[in-house]
Amino acid sequence: GSGAVKTDALIIGAGPVGLFAVFELGLLDIKAHLVDILDRPGGQCTELYPEKPIYDIPALPVVTGQELTDRLMEQIKPFEPEFHLSQRAETLRRTDDGFVVTTDAGTVIETKVVIIAAGGGSFTPKRPPLPGIEDFEGKSVFYSVRRMEDFRDEDIVIVGGGDSALDWTLNLQPIAKKVTLIHRRDKFRAAPDSVNKMFQLVEEGKMDFTIGQVTGLKGADGQLEAVTVKGQRDGETATFDLPASRLLPFFGLTMKLGPVEEWGLELKDNLIVVDTEKFESSQQGVFAIGDINTYPGKLKLILSGFHEAALMAQQAHRYVHPDKKLVFQYTTSSTSLQQKLGVR
Ligand code: FAD
Repeated sequence: GSGAVKTDALIIGAGPVGLFAVFELGLLDIKAHLVDILDRPGGQCTELYPEKPIYDIPALPVVTGQELTDRLMEQIKPFEPEFHLSQRAETLRRTDDGFVVTTDAGTVIETKVVIIAAGGGSFTPKRPPLPGIEDFEGKSVFYSVRRMEDFRDEDIVIVGGGDSALDWTLNLQPIAKKVTLIHRRDKFRAAPDSVNKMFQLVEEGKMDFTIGQVTGLKGADGQLEAVTVKGQRDGETATFDLPASRLLPFFGLTMKLGPVEEWGLELKDNLIVVDTEKFESSQQGVFAIGDINTYPGKLKLILSGFHEAALMAQQAHRYVHPDKKLVFQYTTSSTSLQQKLGVR
């Protein structure tokens, strides 16, 4: 209808795999739009580990989550993808010549094919059950570290026993005024090496570790001043306040498939079942690539998602340009591909 956005391909999820799909589709003259709940591209890479190094991207010996995203954005630039950020794809409906997808922000997108690159689904950090925590979120309580500088010279309290909690304890300790790690018990899910390093820092008097839990927050206008802790102090259980200007609770993420679950696609263990030739779901014209799909031998790796994007694009071409013959070409030697990339 009128007011609807029209595109050849709609990619749901702007994680690394959704981003690379723009490239593979673009080479085949398929124009793409993307939708993401997050306010920026990059998916898990930018949301969960922007400053962590990745070591298994082919030909990039070391690249951080943020750098990988920046490079993908640069690589897909010639294809001028359009982003609909901070909105969730809610409904999918088949029409005579394609699909209509709507988002919770009211965007209506008409598309010939749908590519679900939704990763772990609409992932949201688990919120600790602390009264009034909403008021502090985004100001002094954070569920991820976007910029380390925001934590410099702060009194940081980190809660949790997994890799995120331990990694950020070790990464922020050198720049913080003070770091205190709080965990329910002295057993950790995190890598033993990180746990050992943390205890080493405690021994050297460079940070604190407390067994216990945070039971309350103190502060005003979104600025945290202290956290109330029920835990071990001097060998006894006590309730006490700990000065804190930043709180990082790492209680894990809820991996909910979200609206995608109601789209009538065949699922297995909350993942979308696809074939390994076209990475198409049980519905023709709806593809699933990256962490969201499942097939025998699936590895949840970025490089696998890149491969899946390339094969998906071949089949998408049949639906978007049914009258055109697809000729296999290399980017190194094809003049027409190089023209699309703007390098010739
Ligand atoms: P994601 O990155 O999960 O992106 C999916 C996007 O879809 C998200 O942004 C989400 O908001 C969005 N979305 C979902 N549902 C909707 C909806 N309904 N509407 C709108 N948007 C939606 N992999 C490696 O290969 N090498 C590594 O070294 C490595 N290290 C890792 C370290 C950590 C700490 C973590 C957590 C993961 C690591 N991974 C690594 C895994 C890698 O990050 C994932 O395989 C990769 O991010 C999957 O990409 P994706 O694009 O499929 O999904």
